[in-house]
Amino acid sequence: MRMNVEPIPTVSDRINEIRQLTARIVNDEILPNENMLWGWRSGQHFTEADREESRHLREHIKGRVRQAGLWAPHLPTEYGGAGLDFLEHAYMNEVLAYAVGAASLFGVVAPNSGNQSILVKYGTEEQKQKWLIPSIEGKLESGFSMTEPDAAGSDPRSLQTTARRDGDEWVINGHKWFTSNGKRADFFIVMCRTEEGDGAGDRNSRMTQIIVPRDTPGVNIVRGIKVWGQDSDHCEIIYDDVRVPTENQLGSRGSGHQAAQDRLGAGRVYHCMNSIGQMCRAFDLMVERSMSREVHGGLLETKQFIQGFIADSYIDIQAARLMTIHCAEVMAASSDARTDISAIKVFVPAAYHRVVDRAIQVWGGAGVSDDLPLAAMYQGARTLRLADGPDEVHKILIAKNILARYHDGVGWDFGN
Ligand SMILES: Cc1cc2nc3c(=O)[nH]c(=O)nc-3n(C[C@H](O)[C@H](O)[C@H](O)COP(=O)(O)OP(=O)(O)OC[C@H]3O[C@@H](n4cnc5c(N)ncnc54)[C@H](O)[C@@H]3O)c2cc1C
Repeated sequence: MRMNVEPIPTVSDRINEIRQLTARIVNDEILPNENMLWGWRSGQHFTEADREESRHLREHIKGRVRQAGLWAPHLPTEYGGAGLDFLEHAYMNEVLAYAVGAASLFGVVAPNSGNQSILVKYGTEEQKQKWLIPSIEGKLESGFSMTEPDAAGSDPRSLQTTARRDGDEWVINGHKWFTSNGKRADFFIVMCRTEEGDGAGDRNSRMTQIIVPRDTPGVNIVRGIKVWGQDSDHCEIIYDDVRVPTENQLGSRGSGHQAAQDRLGAGRVYHCMNSIGQMCRAFDLMVERSMSREVHGGLLETKQFIQGFIADSYIDIQAARLMTIHCAEVMAASSDARTDISAIKVFVPAAYHRVVDRAIQVWGGAGVSDDLPLAAMYQGARTLRLADGPDEVHKILIAKNILARYHDGVGWDFGN
């Protein structure tokens, strides 16, 4: 089914134009070709000719995206991106996420896209020339290496990887895991606790991100960690006396934590809009199936259990969408959105999880097969509840911000 994208009366003409342009590519070029585009990934039999056709199709669609001025929505025009503002990008994500894998055809693929945004903001001119431009041109791949097996990722200030200054070099020692894109990456942005030659790193203020080329001696890719029973490119990496020049430091010393927050703040809104686009796809699949599948003498749509699924999913999507758009608007107005960001980070993945769960149930066995995108969505939704800050950490933050207001003698104003 095509995604139904009508103009929204309350947003700018430009946002509506971006939604329409994106929907045209998603509906006309990607959805009818999903099997040819991605079938080789799910182990379908693909001949060399099929693979060639698939490559050709991907290049054709990327060409259409460029023509529409939508390539790399996360980047400014001076770096070859679409130059969208924050809200335009958020609204675009909702539409493009409807189609499996569409983001890569629009030139925005994690973790490269997050690293590119950080390099745009924190990189020196030399770093931009060396790492950012080739990454945008697709000549270099990258990874973001923060989480560690021996320290809680949900408490980033507890990270143990150190960078010790030795003359003109940083010497990095540490053990990371879940570094996505680890096998393909040509360089990593590594979160380190920076130390002077003789002192221990301070817990709060010395986190610094450092660029480490993959081929530097001491970078040991231990393995790709199997995730959900499948081989993956989320890698365990040991950094053993890795020496890089001090000019590979990204931003000022101690800016690593802030840079990670910058990456995650806007990223959480984009991820939630992606989740909403995928919820819409799961919803369409569920409703369509209920209208055609006959069980026990009637169509599924006539059974009240299934009507309940449809109604509950509608409520979940509306609530998730309005909450995310509200949060995006608060951020776009440069107001303090920390409570709202945490709220969507908890609510939206859980709603996504519920909607996909119901769609799977309606589809029966086919729901958990790779013939439909639902099984992959289900795994993605579950993973989102712990990645980028697990639910519990965000709930603690929400409660802390609310209680602080009440301790100041002011209630919470839900209207603002
Ligand atoms: C598919 C995938 C890709 C990833 N890609 C990357 C990547 O590219 N780069 C990278 O650096 N990392 C990556 N990660 C890691 C991810 O960001 C971390 O897994 C996440 O931040 C949680 O950290 P942790 O695994 O160390 O869990 P922990 O911090 O050990 O937390 C475990 C659990 O403890 C509970 N908890 C934590 N704090 C509290 C509290 N205060 N109160 C009550 N309960 C609490 C929560 O339930 C939490 O889920 C990826 C992970 C996955 C699964």
